[in-house]
Amino acid sequence: MNTFNSLMLSQPFNALIGSLLYLLTYASFLNLLKYPRNWILPSASSTFVTVMLAIITVAFVSISSIKSSVGPDFSSMLFLSGFILVLFGIIASPAIDFNPGSRRVVEFLANYGVSAGLWMLLPAVIGAYAFPEARIHGVLAAAIAVELSWYFRHRWTDKRRSYSLEKHDTLVLNAQAKGNIQTFSKLHGISELAFSADGIQWNGCNKNTPPCPFNLYTNKLGLNTAPCCREHMKDLAYYVSSCLKDMKVDHWLEGGSLLGAVRDNGNLLAWEDDVDISFLIDDKSTWSSIAKVLSDRGKKDGYYVDVFEKKGLIGISYDRPLGWPLRWERNRMRGEIRLDLVAYRRALSFGQTVVERCTKKGALPITESGWYGLAEEIVLPTSTIRFLGNDIPCPNQPQLHLKTLYRDYQTIEYMYVSSEAAEKRRPADTN
Ligand SMILES: [Zn+2]
Repeated sequence: MNTFNSLMLSQPFNALIGSLLYLLTYASFLNLLKYPRNWILPSASSTFVTVMLAIITVAFVSISSIKSSVGPDFSSMLFLSGFILVLFGIIASPAIDFNPGSRRVVEFLANYGVSAGLWMLLPAVIGAYAFPEARIHGVLAAAIAVELSWYFRHRWTDKRRSYSLEKHDTLVLNAQAKGNIQTFSKLHGISELAFSADGIQWNGCNKNTPPCPFNLYTNKLGLNTAPCCREHMKDLAYYVSSCLKDMKVDHWLEGGSLLGAVRDNGNLLAWEDDVDISFLIDDKSTWSSIAKVLSDRGKKDGYYVDVFEKKGLIGISYDRPLGWPLRWERNRMRGEIRLDLVAYRRALSFGQTVVERCTKKGALPITESGWYGLAEEIVLPTSTIRFLGNDIPCPNQPQLHLKTLYRDYQTIEYMYVSSEAAEKRRPADTN
């Protein structure tokens, strides 16, 4: 037998290939999770690559079963398919749970997103015992090693800074907890809340910890945005604005952030879950040049940048981007402090100059080209508005802009907050 054949048949080599195939499938699947995090359907090509890699991994393992002395045996194929499906379901749940309408079981799994992967340790051990073959052992060992590393990296994160809750934060927390904050905190696993004789404190997130789980706290439980996250959102808004200023790109505060600045005297909406800024592309400031500069600068300055060209959207998040191969593991995180940067362009629509975007937003009317936009003079030339203690560019006529976007913008509407939680907090917001 020549050396190549003996290498191909050696157990460690087969285990290694099994591990590598699993890691490739895992990385490709993680990349796919950015879509549900942004409430977008995954692209066909990325889905195809992930499914093919999963099929190749399972096929590689089951071929080894067929060749073995036992003869054709599809039980290992069935076992491994089931194992990967369940594990990937667990891994995907925090991303799927970004959508406020997700199911209960998804929310449950997302709550345990850090440790739930380790629940697969027992099936992995049973599988390894039932199928004593190097290839399947390689796949299972890689899967469990990844889950262990994910778990321990979260156990050993940075020390958190303690924040005091503002009066309104406590008022809302009390309303949602029906007066019993400790029980409420235990029930929903709000690990950031700390109780002492001095009162309630919030152990805040930072760049070296996972961000607070936003969609749970603000959208599902109806709490105020955490004090740490408010601080980071301000940092993000002014960081992105200064990058755009350096590039001489017209940009303005938009959506809920503009609403907070106008209606809440320069503050964030109390239940804000992201920052919205829009920018204008033209012949000089093109989409690709802006996306490139922001991606490069974000990487250098410690912000995670994700570009969705078809949506005209650049997502910029506060968490520090990790190097390859851990880069996409952030898609498993429950929370995200992020800024949505949306591109507008000038166009002629029914005889009027407008600025338009390709995705729907609030009540923005449809333009002649089928995009969504409003009269140019409502937005340009931009003005400035007080926002979180500084001045930031805003539309030329902010009130009219908000009217076009939300019609009656003075009435409080909890757009992404669950209706039950929204009604519980309403008295605290209106008095
Ligand atoms: Zn936070």
